[in-house]
Amino acid sequence: MLTAFTNLDPTGRVIVLAVLGTVAYLLSGLFWPYTACQACHGGKHSSPTGKNFGLCRRCRGSGKKLRLVARLLGRVERG
Ligand SMILES: [Zn+2]
Repeated sequence: MLTAFTNLDPTGRVIVLAVLGTVAYLLSGLFWPYTACQACHGGKHSSPTGKNFGLCRRCRGSGKKLRLVARLLGRVERG
């Protein structure tokens, strides 16, 4: 396998690496479909006093965001 890889011309190596990268990316979306919501901290927006908070509108208070790759794999975002 490694010999086959080193025998490839530079373009072929780039293609193989790109395919491997894509597969790894898709697998990561399968196992880790969520990422942290960038608009809040854990789904909450704290008031200046820190005592009160409102739920984040973007993630509806879940604090997580469905990754693009997970969406491509057909995952549906749930509250
Ligand atoms: Zn949020």
